[in-house]
Amino acid sequence: MNLGTVFECAVSRYPTHVALVQENNRYTYAQLNAEVNRVASSLQRLGVTRRDRVMVLLKNRKEAVCLFWAIQKLGAIFTPISMRLSPEDTQYCINDSEPKVVVYESSSRRSVQAAKFSDRPIFIGLEKGEGDLSYEELVKRGTSTFESLAVDDEEIALMLYTSGTTGFPKGVPRSHKNEYASTIAHIIQNTYETFESTLGVMPLYHTMGVRSLLAICVLNGKYVVAPDLDPYTALTLLSSERISCLYMIPRLYHELLEDRSFSQFDLSALRKIGYAGAPMSEALTQKCFQRLRPKHFVNHYGSTEIYTFTTCAILDKKPGCAGKPGIHQRMRLVTPDPSGGSTPQDEVPDGQIGEIIIHAGSDEAFKGYWNRPDATRKAIRNQWYYTGDLGILDEDGDLYIVGRIDEMLISGGENISPVEIEEVLASHPKVAEAAVIGEEDDRWGQIVVAFIVPSDHTVSVQELDQFCKRHAKMSTTKRPRKYLFVEEIPKSPAGKVIRRELRGLSERNDA
Ligand code: AMP
Repeated sequence: MNLGTVFECAVSRYPTHVALVQENNRYTYAQLNAEVNRVASSLQRLGVTRRDRVMVLLKNRKEAVCLFWAIQKLGAIFTPISMRLSPEDTQYCINDSEPKVVVYESSSRRSVQAAKFSDRPIFIGLEKGEGDLSYEELVKRGTSTFESLAVDDEEIALMLYTSGTTGFPKGVPRSHKNEYASTIAHIIQNTYETFESTLGVMPLYHTMGVRSLLAICVLNGKYVVAPDLDPYTALTLLSSERISCLYMIPRLYHELLEDRSFSQFDLSALRKIGYAGAPMSEALTQKCFQRLRPKHFVNHYGSTEIYTFTTCAILDKKPGCAGKPGIHQRMRLVTPDPSGGSTPQDEVPDGQIGEIIIHAGSDEAFKGYWNRPDATRKAIRNQWYYTGDLGILDEDGDLYIVGRIDEMLISGGENISPVEIEEVLASHPKVAEAAVIGEEDDRWGQIVVAFIVPSDHTVSVQELDQFCKRHAKMSTTKRPRKYLFVEEIPKSPAGKVIRRELRGLSERNDA
C-alpha cells in the first residue's frame, strides 16, 4: 500500500472527521485533502514528479503536513531536514539529495540562503514574498482535485537524514512498504485504536514524527500541531484537545512532568504513551506512571533505518527494558567487534553482552543509504543490520540496551557499559542526572569519569564514591575515579548523550 492511497482511504472513510488542529483552526479530512490536492497539482506544474526530492525545512505545522501528503500523491520523495542543522550540514543535505524544490520558513531562511547549490532548486517560502513563490501562491495556483500517480510500494516515499557522531548526516531512503509496515507495527505495538488523537511533538524530519502522523491517519484520528511548542502549550493542548496518545523522546516527558503548571491540567484522556530514541531512567519511568497514569506505556527501541527493533510494554515490572523483537523483526546478539569482523553466526551465549543485529529482510528495513555504498556495506552485512548497540537478554529473553559498541569502556580488562553506571549514579537521591565516559589510564586501560547534574548541590564526591562502593551493581573497575559536576548533560535534539562533548569537558577540566 502506498502512502498516497493510505491518505485517500482515510479521506473517503471519514471525510468530515477532524484530521488536523492548529491554533484555532480545525481541518477535516476532506478539507485537508482539498489543500493537499492544490499543493500536489501545483507542484506537478512546477515539474515535480515521481522520485523527485522535495526538501522541507519547516516546523511541525499544517503546511508541512499538506506537503507530506501532496508529495506522496505525486510519488515524489518527502525529504525533511532539521532547521537546527549547521549551515554546512544543511548545504551538504541539499546537494546530496538534489531536490527539485526546497520549502523553507523564516527560521530556516538563513541556512537555506547561505547554501551553495550544484543545481539550483525552486524555492518556496512559507511567508508572503519569500522564495520563487510563497506557499500561499502554491496553493492558489493548484486545483482542488488531483489524480494521484500510480506508485509502487517499493518506491521511495521519504528520506530522513540521520546525524551520526562523525561525518555528514546520512540519507535514509524509506519505501512506501517500509513506512506502511512500520506504521501498522506501531499501531499494534502501542495498542492504538480508531480515532486516536496525538500531539505532533516530534518533528517530521524524525522517524518518530512521521510515525505519529501516519498512524493517526490510518486510524482517522486527530493530529494536533503547534509550530512553537513549549511544555506549557503542550500541556494546554493535551488537556483542551483531550489527546489520547503521546509518542516522544524521554527528555520531553521530563519537561512536561517538571513544568510548574503540570498539576493545573486534566490529562485524563491520555491513555497510551510511548518513548523511543534514547533510554529513559527508572526514576522518570516511575514518574510517568505516577503522574500520567497510562493504560499502556511502551518503550520502543528502533532506528531511522529499521523502524522497530524491539518493544516493551511491561515497564512497571521492568523499567528500562526494551523487551522483545517487533512484529516484523528477527534479532540476534553477536560478539561485539567494532572492526566489523563478527558474522551473524557469532551469537553470544545467554546472559552475555552482544551487539544487537536485526534481519534486514524485514518489511520495515531500508535497503541502504543514499549515495553512501560504503556506509551501507558497513551497516548491512550478510543480510543483517548491525545496530552498533550493545544489549543483553534477561532470563525471560527480554532485551536491555547497555550502550553503543563505540562507547563501551574497558577497565581492568572488564567490558563496561556506561548505561549501567549511569543508572546507579542517577539512583542517588542528590543526583538529577548522570553520564559517564572512559578516559585513558596507564594502570586500568580506561577509568570511568562521571558527569553529575546535582539535584541537591550539597552532594560531594566522597558521598558518591561511598554510595558506589556499597552498591550491589558496582565492581571496583566500574566505580568512577573522577567526578565532574555540571549544569546539564550535552544531548542531541533526540536526547542522545553526546559523549565526545563530555570528553572535551573533561580534557578542559584537566588542563
Ligand atoms: P535514530 O535512528 O536517530 O532514531 O537512532 C537510533 C538509535 O537510537 C538506536 O540505534 C539506539 O542507539 C538509540 N535508541 C533508539 N531507541 C532507543 C530506546 N528506546 N532506548 C535506548 N536507545 C534507543
